[in-house]
Amino acid sequence: MAIDSYDFQTIDPILNWIGGEYRASSTGNTMDVINPRHGKVMTSVVLSGADDVQAAVDAASAAYPAWKETPLKERAQVMYRLKYLMERDQEKIAWLISHENGKVFNEAMAEVAKGIECTEFGCALPNIPLGETLYVSRGVTCSTIREPLGVCAGVTPFNFPFMVPLWMLPQALVAGNTFILKPSEQVPIGADLLAQLLQEAGLPPGVFNVVHGARDAVEALSDHETIKAMGFVGSTRVAKIVYGRGAQTGRRMLCLGGAKNHLIVVPDADREMTAVDVVRSFTGVAGQRCMAASALMGVQGFDPILETIVEKASQLVPGRDMGPVINKQSYERILGYIKAAEEAGGKVLLDGRNAKVEGAEGGYWIGPTILEVTKDMPAYQDEIFGPVLSVVRTKSLDEALAIENAHVYGNGGSIYTTSGATARYAAQRINAGMTGVNIGVPVPREPFGFGGWEHSKFGSGDITGIDGYHYWTRPRKLTTKWALQPDATWMS
Ligand code: NAD
Repeated sequence: MAIDSYDFQTIDPILNWIGGEYRASSTGNTMDVINPRHGKVMTSVVLSGADDVQAAVDAASAAYPAWKETPLKERAQVMYRLKYLMERDQEKIAWLISHENGKVFNEAMAEVAKGIECTEFGCALPNIPLGETLYVSRGVTCSTIREPLGVCAGVTPFNFPFMVPLWMLPQALVAGNTFILKPSEQVPIGADLLAQLLQEAGLPPGVFNVVHGARDAVEALSDHETIKAMGFVGSTRVAKIVYGRGAQTGRRMLCLGGAKNHLIVVPDADREMTAVDVVRSFTGVAGQRCMAASALMGVQGFDPILETIVEKASQLVPGRDMGPVINKQSYERILGYIKAAEEAGGKVLLDGRNAKVEGAEGGYWIGPTILEVTKDMPAYQDEIFGPVLSVVRTKSLDEALAIENAHVYGNGGSIYTTSGATARYAAQRINAGMTGVNIGVPVPREPFGFGGWEHSKFGSGDITGIDGYHYWTRPRKLTTKWALQPDATWMS
């Protein structure tokens, strides 16, 4: 089958990966995995419970002492080999994740490429001095040494089945932890591929485990006292619940949630660049990116740019340029937002509701949709998580900033302008952890950390780059003296 083919294909059922082997779940329950392009079952996945989580914790605990004692440089070699294997298999991985998630093949290739970039950071860790030493008093030295935590866990969403686990794994594993991943039950294939590749890369059994499932599995992980740190990426509603529940054990939790990313466009913005960026940002992965532009704040006089945005978005062809949304529930929710905006007096500047793709009629297709709304409407207030751009008109940049600042989320935000002074003014005031100037998707690249503010993140620190390494380690503060000092002070 051609690599970018939309033809339908089934694959073998997906099982848990525990202690270096496949296992069915103890619950005996499974769930259908639907290919969103066709709305048809492409495989099934096991749904795990507390016993499966316990089995994974046992395997990860057993593997921990030897992995912790393996030198950092040797642990990093696994990441070098993983990088090579991902490059070798990039097309195959992209094909599989484009079919489970629905994103177009090029987007899936980019997802793997970003996963490779995250892995490269893990490869680099032995080349970064990771501790500090200071001669602090007569004869006394203080050092910090970063040590692994033990068994760690990660829970990931549907929109990047391969990349989001790689936001956590390179740092967590190279640091010497063992890990249990609970991927989204809607897209279990990416995590399964990672388990296979890590085994081929030489990772010892039990160092990386995958427990598939839904809420029960996450609750069992959240409650397990042995797990020392958890990373979560998903919706704000669930991030908040998991953060609160996991923190009850006293462990560290870092839970990334949803978003409503604002792009502020002032009239002096470069028309072509702004339009291209805005369209790419709100339609990429069918708008199912936590960094997608979903609110466009147009400052008075921006209409020519809006016209170009509508024109460019109207040229996109679902099936060729855009994938479907993940499932029927999402499809209906998104259509509900468009209808509600229309009924409340909003204007539909571009309507993607009648999208159809020949040969994939059962898929959850929505074309690019642009709404002109007011700030009180749900289409502006809520994360829609589909290819819908909600445009709000403002009289001034300050009004746009005030509206953006009042929003509950704070993941990403950008200003579009050709004026350095305007850019600086806005970049200092946008209330988002990831801020851009003339960038539609202001994702920080490695080695910078990824993470938002406000209700887009619960917990402190960021998840990628060096922040990720700090998250999955703890500093031992070592104070040393080797001889009694004749001139000792109270500090010696
Ligand atoms: P989701 O919150 O529904 O699911 C995320 C994970 O939580 C899945 O593994 C799921 O099985 C589990 N889960 C679902 N309900 C649960 C419950 N009640 N208790 C415990 N666990 C539960 O999110 P999703 O629909 O898979 O992903 C889309 C969301 O993720 C969007 O809101 C998007 O903005 C967000 N996201 C955020 C980032 C970020 O970096 N901030 C990145 C990617 C996606």
